[in-house]
Amino acid sequence: MLKLKTTFLAMVLAGAATMASGLTASAQDKATVGIAMPTKSSARWIADGDNMVKVLKERGYNTDLQYAEDDIPNQLSQVENMVTKGAKALVIAAIDGTTLSDVLKQAKAKGITVIAYDRLIRGTPNVDYYATFDNFQVGVLQAESIVKGLGLKDGKEGPFNIELFGGSPDDNNAFFFYNGAMSVLQPLIDSKKLVVVSGQMGMDKVATLRWDGATAQARMDNLLSAYYGNKKVNAVLSPYDGLSIGIISSLKGVGYGSADQPMPIISGQDAEVPSIKAMLRGDQYSTIFKDTRDLAKVTADMVDAALAGKQVTVNDTKTYENGAKTVPSYLLKPVVVYKDNWEKVLVESGYYKKSQFQ
Ligand code: BGC
Repeated sequence: MLKLKTTFLAMVLAGAATMASGLTASAQDKATVGIAMPTKSSARWIADGDNMVKVLKERGYNTDLQYAEDDIPNQLSQVENMVTKGAKALVIAAIDGTTLSDVLKQAKAKGITVIAYDRLIRGTPNVDYYATFDNFQVGVLQAESIVKGLGLKDGKEGPFNIELFGGSPDDNNAFFFYNGAMSVLQPLIDSKKLVVVSGQMGMDKVATLRWDGATAQARMDNLLSAYYGNKKVNAVLSPYDGLSIGIISSLKGVGYGSADQPMPIISGQDAEVPSIKAMLRGDQYSTIFKDTRDLAKVTADMVDAALAGKQVTVNDTKTYENGAKTVPSYLLKPVVVYKDNWEKVLVESGYYKKSQFQ
């Protein structure tokens, strides 16, 4: 109750700050906000960049949006340029959350506001705020969808065979997704309703560098040939749609997706168009929608308030310890998407057009 009250108060205060700063933002002689995004290879980051630019422009800012094609030195030099060119705030979705310490030190010395966007920036005190989704909950939802898809919720006992995939080990989110998922799956593994046939568990064994679909596909190929000669995979925990695509290709390659060898229950994340299509075909079972429009808005609110010297809205001050400080965060709610709610969640909300799926 106390927590609720405090959160509510913080939101009211922050709401007032946002309104006030909305007025001052346009009066602030068009400060530039640098936006560093990881890659264009995934539609979600393109939407993130577009939404950030749109919201910030509406509020009277100049924007400098850069994509680094998952190349760490490239992102570093992009951020260095933003600092040199006089950005007043930086919004950074890091490729490797630990590689930006030096440039952020320079940014701090210049009084630049630094916001970690979606992914936590680690190992530096020079990150002011973090705007993201509840990353642990993403993992919980992914695992719960697997439990549902297997029928374990409806009393089926299993045992079901499952393999686990993790995200990129240099992305802090990947650990939150994995830990969230395992909070649901581990008890079922302990009670033998789920069996990880390969025995490969833990991020040190299941991570997928740079979230690369081809890497996931190759690992799935190996798992199938090494452990599934006379067994069937019933479920695959996949933390991201791009990995699910690789995993599905691998499974199809050995005959899954037919009447006598159905596709396993496969999770995902980001509700990307090709993966919604895969869901409609029955290849993928679920995905997680994270509304990048909301993330852009929350982040722009942070920029507004910080640059106006007002209190910044956060709703979590405990979870995101980055090795140097606990970064005040705003966590949005992820939404699980299935075949039966995708239209409501993704089309009725205006995020996608129905025609994109025809
Ligand atoms: C994001 C996910 C995304 C993944 C791969 C993570 O940091 O939170 O939404 O699926 O990166 O791009």
